[in-house]
Amino acid sequence: MKITLLGTGTSQGIPVVGCNCVVCMSDDPRDSRLRSGVLIEVGETNILIDTGPDLRYQMLRNKVNRVDAILYTHEHNDHIIGLDDIRPFNFTQKIDMPLYALPRVADELLARFGYVFSDNQYPGSPRAIIKRIEDFGVIEIKGQIVQPIQVMHGNLPILGYRIGDFAFITDASYINNENIQRLKGVKILIINALRKESHHSHFSLDQAIGLIEQVNPQKAYITHLSHRMGLTNDWEKDLPNNVFPSYDGLEIFV
Ligand SMILES: [Zn+2]
Ligand SMILES: [Zn+2]
Ligand SMILES: [Zn+2]
Repeated sequence: MKITLLGTGTSQGIPVVGCNCVVCMSDDPRDSRLRSGVLIEVGETNILIDTGPDLRYQMLRNKVNRVDAILYTHEHNDHIIGLDDIRPFNFTQKIDMPLYALPRVADELLARFGYVFSDNQYPGSPRAIIKRIEDFGVIEIKGQIVQPIQVMHGNLPILGYRIGDFAFITDASYINNENIQRLKGVKILIINALRKESHHSHFSLDQAIGLIEQVNPQKAYITHLSHRMGLTNDWEKDLPNNVFPSYDGLEIFV
């Protein structure tokens, strides 16, 4: 299984428009972060997590030429608004793209992208079918088993996903014990941390490290960062031995 991090920034991305802070002005390519996105290549199957506002550029930059299914974490704009840019895959693969989402997230996709799901489609519109994830049960995509992991994003229950020895969690601020148990045994864990200071709906760096200690993966990577985390070159020095910063384009083999 190969994991590619397509975007590792929080909702505004880094650099932030109009910001002159050291992170936004940094020459380190690791400090430039598009909005969240992950590609999982497992066997012959390409699974995308989320369709944020940078989707088109992420597909071009990482030379993604096929997507078989999309898993949604939640309905915030930085995770869904690029859905229209799945059209090239509709045209080349001649499929209606399967979109897996919680029922609440599915309803939001239907509301925001009514034209995609209309009976009376404009020619050339994206084509997709919604697959509702009920009761957090496992999903099967072309024989690959995907385990949804429920996490809290402030007051909002959202999803992370586990496939085999790999799990991806973004936008979490709390994970209950039942779901921590579902993460046990992963070799690679990708988990969000916004910044060092606490935040009402995202883990701080210390909280993410605490969660990593509970799950105890071989390696963990920090994603969904704000420019307020500081320079990657600085904060990575304080990380435990098995924890690493993520960056756009990072490839992980599991
Ligand atoms: Zn987000
Ligand atoms: Zn900045
Ligand atoms: Zn969010």
